[in-house]
Amino acid sequence: MKKIDIIRAWGRILSGHPPMLSIEITRECPLRCPGCYAYEPEHLGQLGPLRSLADYKGQQLIDGVIALVRRYRPLHISIVGGDPMVRFRELDILLPRLSKMGIEVQLVTSAFRQIPPHWAQIKDLHIVVSIDGLQPDHDVRRTPATYDRILKSIVGHSITVHCTVTRQMTARPKYFEEFLSFWSSKPEVNKIWFSLFTPQVGDELDEILSPQDRAAVLEELARLRPQFPKMYLPNVVMEGYRRPPQSPAECIFARTTLTITADLNGTITPCQFGGNPDCTQCGCIASAGLKAIGDFRLLGFLPVKSIFFASDRIGKTAARMLKNSAWLLANLVLLSLDLS
Ligand code: SF4
Ligand code: SF4
Repeated sequence: MKKIDIIRAWGRILSGHPPMLSIEITRECPLRCPGCYAYEPEHLGQLGPLRSLADYKGQQLIDGVIALVRRYRPLHISIVGGDPMVRFRELDILLPRLSKMGIEVQLVTSAFRQIPPHWAQIKDLHIVVSIDGLQPDHDVRRTPATYDRILKSIVGHSITVHCTVTRQMTARPKYFEEFLSFWSSKPEVNKIWFSLFTPQVGDELDEILSPQDRAAVLEELARLRPQFPKMYLPNVVMEGYRRPPQSPAECIFARTTLTITADLNGTITPCQFGGNPDCTQCGCIASAGLKAIGDFRLLGFLPVKSIFFASDRIGKTAARMLKNSAWLLANLVLLSLDLS
């Protein structure tokens, strides 16, 4: 995240708006990945399981998303699902419109179907493809979005590979080296991210990493960094994985991102995982990055997170009481901290 992005996001917080929006645009997905949080019964809380939710198609979906964007005016949107490529016809209209509105969009998909080649020309569109492990493991877990299918789907694009590390991947030496070697060699791959599997409180799943597994994975990835420059795992994210927020209240990502349900009407709390996620085992790359930024001390003593959290409180109050004075306040704070 660039300094200018942080300052813009701060302005949004102070004006009572979440700077980031995450929209589950469909309840549908052709995959059945083990450990998928979206289809866990507790994901949407009282709204019920995702598959039981009404969702939109066609013009209604396009209008609904644009209405949300006009209402919340985010700087950044994540389009997720289900798998958003289920609605690729609607996205074909929506994505260029969002780009024209100056909004950065991250589209997260399994790439089970071809990503239209002309989307490569859409400004500020970032395509993230979830690839969970080496081919034999991935293909079993994520069929029909197999390696072969993904390789065809991404032709002509510049994508980010996103691998969620599960305990099963730690069983074999050189696993991550082989993974990085395979995907780094593909010209369509621009970046490779690693998240760590994040359980719900009380889960007992095979995917969960023990503290020792977590430490060993991070050490291994740090060792591999110089060899694979496409891997994006800066020290701040590493630090965030080592010391995740202890609760949603401490999580800058959760507090600055509004996650919208597939009926475009509800919100998912406390973060994109929904339910009761175990923050102490959080492996979300965005949360980790923002945690580390939040721990940074301005002028050597003032943690950035205390400014974010105070701004959040100010923004929520200001949104109710002083709607239009927030930017003035943002500028005053910036001036007083001599950051501008
Ligand atoms: S592709 Fe994503 S939404 Fe679909 S089952 Fe897998 S993890 Fe869940
Ligand atoms: S993103 Fe991670 S730390 Fe933040 S609320 Fe969700 S589980 Fe907790």
